[in-house]
Amino acid sequence: MTYQGLISRYKQYLELPEHTQIISLLEGNTPLIPMPRLEEEFGGEIFVKYEGLNPTGSFKDRGMTAAISEAAGRGAKTVICASTGNTAASAAAYAARAGLRSIVLIPEGKVAVGKLAGAIAYGAEVIQIQGSFDDALSLVVEITQKTPIALVNSINPYRIEGQKTSSFEICDVLGSAPDWLCLPVGNAGNITSYWAGFKQYGKGLPQILGVQAAGSAPLVLGHPVEKPETVATAIRIGKPARGEQALEAAQQSGGKIIAVSDEEILSAQRMLASEGVWVEPASAAGLAGLVAETASGTFEAKGKKIVVVCTGHGMKDPSIITESFNAPQVIPAKYEALVDLVGA
Ligand SMILES: *Cc1c(COP(=O)(O)O)cnc(C)c1O
Repeated sequence: MTYQGLISRYKQYLELPEHTQIISLLEGNTPLIPMPRLEEEFGGEIFVKYEGLNPTGSFKDRGMTAAISEAAGRGAKTVICASTGNTAASAAAYAARAGLRSIVLIPEGKVAVGKLAGAIAYGAEVIQIQGSFDDALSLVVEITQKTPIALVNSINPYRIEGQKTSSFEICDVLGSAPDWLCLPVGNAGNITSYWAGFKQYGKGLPQILGVQAAGSAPLVLGHPVEKPETVATAIRIGKPARGEQALEAAQQSGGKIIAVSDEEILSAQRMLASEGVWVEPASAAGLAGLVAETASGTFEAKGKKIVVVCTGHGMKDPSIITESFNAPQVIPAKYEALVDLVGA
């Protein structure tokens, strides 16, 4: 049967209301890529769940197909979200698909260029507020409580329903849950979804390693962070909406939530790219966490099956690469000049 998107595929496992009207861009069904070189280095069996290959370049599409399908079926005309970027692009694309108006609030400061461009390309009305992501989220919650505008942030329960499907796919490919699942944690909707998904699917439970950036690690510090800072803009969140659930998922699974530095994140980004998988900085946090835990001796990868979730594509945030690279060498358009340079 041809693939019809993840709601069709996993309908029986998703709690969506009767009125849901499927709006899909054939999201999900992303590859679980073996990483032989990482395996050689760490000893375990390591796979990347490459969520950057969803229609708008991040895992946000899994939850968004569900949230927009529900909102459209209920007759909503306008959807709104607060976003560090990927939610905005995803909401805008699915709203466009459904013929709805979309409004996105982005925080002050850096939003990766590939994400902003996406939201605009899909026709969202983009508003930048003079405040943080957390301030933007409070505003969209308020307006959706007082008007018929539909909220599509991950506090929307259908986002979590849709996002559970990644754990189903992993179990379907591996035959059972992996021993460890490593992933970045920002607003904590994704870690909540994976844990709910594994528990529901009945194919075993992984231990979960949730990873925050050191400059915005409220769940590690145990208190909100007023001015979160990190190059990993997708997880630059100081007050995670589902923080309690994230801590619960880590604890119940026998895993934990740790913080890694921006340098460790960028180094993990290079490790992945050197094996052919280019992800945006936040998406490399899961691997950075695995590296840190292995180096500190807390974690032994040998003999373990490990899935590293890479949440978004590298093309979302090209400037992190282009701002620090050496400009290409310039030569005359002559064979001699070329062969001189490359040495043959
Ligand atoms: C949204 C996002 C995250 C964080 O996910 P949460 O559900 O907010 O914890 C991580 N990486 C990327 C690329 C994202 O877009």
